[in-house]
Amino acid sequence: MFATLNEKLNAVFRKIKGQARLTEDNIRDAVKQVRLALLEADVNYKVVKKFVSAVQEKALGEEVLKSLTPDQIFIKIVHDEIVEILGGDESEAKIKLNPIPPTKIMLVGLQGSGKTTTAGKLARFFQKNKKDVLLVADDIYRPAAIDQLEVLGKQLKVDVFADREKNDAVTIANDAVKYAKSAAKDVVIIDTAGRLHIDENLMNELINIKNSIQPDEILFVADAMTGQDAVNVAKTFNEMLGITGVILTKLDGDARGGAALSIREVTGKPIKFVGTGEKLDAFEQFYPDRMASRILGMGDIVTLVEMAQDAIEEGEAERLADKIQKKGLDFNDMLQQMKMIKRMGSFESILKLLPGFSGMGQINVDDSQLKRIEAIINSMTPQERTNYKILNASRKRRIARGSGTSVAEVNRLVQQLQQMNKMMKRFKKQFAGKNKLDKNM
Ligand code: GDP
Repeated sequence: MFATLNEKLNAVFRKIKGQARLTEDNIRDAVKQVRLALLEADVNYKVVKKFVSAVQEKALGEEVLKSLTPDQIFIKIVHDEIVEILGGDESEAKIKLNPIPPTKIMLVGLQGSGKTTTAGKLARFFQKNKKDVLLVADDIYRPAAIDQLEVLGKQLKVDVFADREKNDAVTIANDAVKYAKSAAKDVVIIDTAGRLHIDENLMNELINIKNSIQPDEILFVADAMTGQDAVNVAKTFNEMLGITGVILTKLDGDARGGAALSIREVTGKPIKFVGTGEKLDAFEQFYPDRMASRILGMGDIVTLVEMAQDAIEEGEAERLADKIQKKGLDFNDMLQQMKMIKRMGSFESILKLLPGFSGMGQINVDDSQLKRIEAIINSMTPQERTNYKILNASRKRRIARGSGTSVAEVNRLVQQLQQMNKMMKRFKKQFAGKNKLDKNM
């Protein structure tokens, strides 16, 4: 995500860092390079212009020139300006639920932008917030789209409204809302038809649905990887239909960030969610300040902590703390922890949220290593898992054979467990007297 842009901006910051004092000349030079970085990242030129003049004005202010840490102030100015073009005040990004349910959400966008997948992700989001959701398959032109939504609905255990007999999207949307009312649903998510290009018939259909059901939200689903194309299409949809927000998909595959950095400023409508992968849990609410930190490679600890809280089972932290106090960790605990990491997404995506990691480009911790560790532990007997001390040479050979790994790898894992226990013991001493570990540690 944003790897190229991140690299370029950090090169500018590094250059500034090397200077003891900033002069007007080298601020102008740095601003020029920021401008180039943004243009190369495919950010809309008007947005770049506005951005650059704001940064230049602030950076040339007395405060920066006189400061002893001009580089940090410069970074902060760039950071704050990115927050600004991403939407500034995050409160507008929230979806307000209609006090009289159901809240009606229409998803619109071009074919392939990720609309149907996003409908599923959004349903899961509301479901996690204890809302009863109805998904509506309102693409009457592609039967496959209806099937796709039904599969997602089954997976999520969410009701899907479809009507293969009717060939009028407005009637289906109306019927769906009626059904949602009678079934006391909290949220209705309507997956509308998409085309490869903007087309008048499609627009008219969407306008008719809008006028008929009066949705609370019309969210434009934009494929971030298509850069300025996505921005231009969003602009047209907004002009013709009036959208209330944007969901940016495929941010995981977007190294440049041009759409993310332009769409808010060009449409005037907030980004509300982002899609970061094909799986249903690869979906986040959008926060301008967190995203700005990620773009600058400062990591995003807040999102990481939230993901961890989601993944950690209730009581798990307390159970582990208790175990450390009494017996020390065993391989069962290790396996359990790996499952939690997996639930949080790929190892790589987690590392990227850590400060300093996001700018490192390719990270060499691949998920296949986790799979090998899992295979080793799964090849152990229950006795071996709870007591690694009984692992002699012949047992290790058997485990290596069973897991398709090597004795060296088995040895390494045993060492890791010993290491973990050693660290935990030290930790325990430091916190002696404190009988409960903090859940977030
Ligand atoms: P629709 O035609 O707009 O309904 O698009 P789909 O929901 O069928 O998605 C098109 C493709 O994009 C599918 O292969 C999805 O798995 C993929 N996709 C959707 N959202 C994301 C995302 O956030 N990241 C990635 N990597 N792929 C996505």
